[in-house]
Amino acid sequence: MTDKETSLSPQEGCELYNVKQWGNDYFSVNDKGHLCVLPEKRENGPEIDFMQVIKEINDQGISFPTVIRFHDILRSQVRLLNTTFAEAIADCGYQGRFFGVYPIKVNQMREVVEEIIDAGFPFDYGLEAGSKSELLACLAYNENCESLTILNGYKDEDYIRLALLGRKLGRKVIIVVENFSEFELIIRLSEEMQADPLIGIRTKLAVKSSGRWAASSGDRAKFGLTCSEILAGIDLLRQNGMVNCLKLLHFHVGSQIPDIRIIKQAVTEAGRIYGSLRQLGIPIEYFDVGGGLGIDYDGSRSATDSSRNYSLQAYAADIVSGLQQVCDEAEVPHPNIVSESGRYVTAHHSCVITNVVDIIHQTTNSCVTSVTSDEHILVTNMREAAESLCMENYQEIFNDVQQYKDETINAFRLGVVTLEERAKVETLYWQVIRSVYGMLGKVDFIPEELQQIEELKASQYLCNFSVFQSAADTWAIKQILPIMPVMRLDEQPTERCSLVDITCDSDGKITHFITQKGYEKTLLLHPLRKEEDYYIGLFLTGAYQDVMGDMHNLFGRLNEVHIYCDDDDPDDFYIEEVIKGTSAQQVLATMQYSPDIMARSIKKKIDRQIQRGVILPREGVRLIDFYESCLEDYTYLKM
Ligand SMILES: *Cc1c(COP(=O)(O)O)cnc(C)c1O
Repeated sequence: MTDKETSLSPQEGCELYNVKQWGNDYFSVNDKGHLCVLPEKRENGPEIDFMQVIKEINDQGISFPTVIRFHDILRSQVRLLNTTFAEAIADCGYQGRFFGVYPIKVNQMREVVEEIIDAGFPFDYGLEAGSKSELLACLAYNENCESLTILNGYKDEDYIRLALLGRKLGRKVIIVVENFSEFELIIRLSEEMQADPLIGIRTKLAVKSSGRWAASSGDRAKFGLTCSEILAGIDLLRQNGMVNCLKLLHFHVGSQIPDIRIIKQAVTEAGRIYGSLRQLGIPIEYFDVGGGLGIDYDGSRSATDSSRNYSLQAYAADIVSGLQQVCDEAEVPHPNIVSESGRYVTAHHSCVITNVVDIIHQTTNSCVTSVTSDEHILVTNMREAAESLCMENYQEIFNDVQQYKDETINAFRLGVVTLEERAKVETLYWQVIRSVYGMLGKVDFIPEELQQIEELKASQYLCNFSVFQSAADTWAIKQILPIMPVMRLDEQPTERCSLVDITCDSDGKITHFITQKGYEKTLLLHPLRKEEDYYIGLFLTGAYQDVMGDMHNLFGRLNEVHIYCDDDDPDDFYIEEVIKGTSAQQVLATMQYSPDIMARSIKKKIDRQIQRGVILPREGVRLIDFYESCLEDYTYLKM
């Protein structure tokens, strides 16, 4: 782009899509107008250009959509969490240590968990499991005996036996009692296995989170013990000589806590319980604040659902100082602090890159609209409205044409208006919408009812992905994810768009974006060019999104590319691993189809057609090969 009017500086490109607000300093725009990753958060450190990564992915013959994981961001987030708590502890002169654990439900991918364990090793960073399968993974993959393994969720006998197996391996496995009956199970099975359990208790705090996960907290929460259950549990442990096994007090008020005041209240309330238990002589060593550390998805730094009104530093400082104060008042030792932050650790490290494969214009369909002798009055009305449109009456005309269009459709349903007449009315309608849209550019104040015109006029960009597989939360709970092009950021975008996916579900679309102006139903993107693919990224998909997708329409898991930063490489990165996404036959097999039988059945049918002389043998062989190659292929569009 050479045009001065429409060219943007890297800074302007960043601002257009709020990169600084949601990017946590890991993302920036370079002077080629490409989005890039700064794995060390330094402007003059290594810089990975998304378009270089995309070029290499294409060179390797890997198809889009693709998940890209930046392992250095994952490592950096683990370090950041641990060092920030360590600093807060040092600053306050707090007596305990920080023992973080990563809750693997947030992203259970083996490569992700291994990277987190490795990066967390110097800090004795551990793992949290919420089910037997997760515990099986934790026991096998975490080698650090100093780190904690925290077990949440409802537990059966085998879950507890697995935990005790971990104890026999010398690991600090803490069984968190969520439900009173688990005390009895633990007592009986420890005796049976001659094992020495570490026990935690989850408290049901009165403080309620706000935001989307409010239901995980408060009196009606699914998990946790009331104060009377805690005291009864302690009695039970005492009677069995096991009260010294009680090592941890846990709470979790919900994920993505938007407001720091909730965290402070929870720490104070749970801190009082801790203080009282210590005064009763129970040797609790760990105070577990659960998850909830939020991500600023929309960049607003506010206590709204997709944001949070605090930083990591404030979060750590408030927990440490709040707990210190309660402990000092109760004159009890400062416990070690455990956190189970998953979202914070993983969200930034992965994104989904997809290509726009088509554009669905609302406004380009047109036909000849000239007068015919016996046309319906609605067509005449619409034509006259279109002809009389001017700056003085655009609001009135806008209202009129909405009405004529609706009436035409009703009349069409009744068989009063013909297909040709309906086409004329639609053409005239869109002519008016386009003209009114142009006029709105010249006025200062846009009346509310005309604001929908931007949405009406918006194009739909058809993206090669499935919302249900790659961005489930945008569909299920209206989670906002940052979405932006990774290229042409030095060019003013001019197309108002919403995004639709390739599933045949009308819900398969994204119509909720965060822009410079706040929440909007459309996103500004660039007009597509014939000779060039246009790549869009969905960011902050590393927490939950990566592993929650479903197979709606049998679109399977995405191809994955794992990137490591390498300062000595000319492009500052290398692709360490490629994990192929699911093929059509794998997806079919999970739904109990047998791809072998399917291929054989098609072959039989083709053979029959060859015998009948409908298909030539040479063509038949090609068709069978083609069917089989489609079974082996990626489930997304090949474009
Ligand atoms: C889900 C969950 C977490 C993780 O919460 P984030 O908000 O993602 O950090 C932590 N602890 C428990 C008990 C959970 O259920």
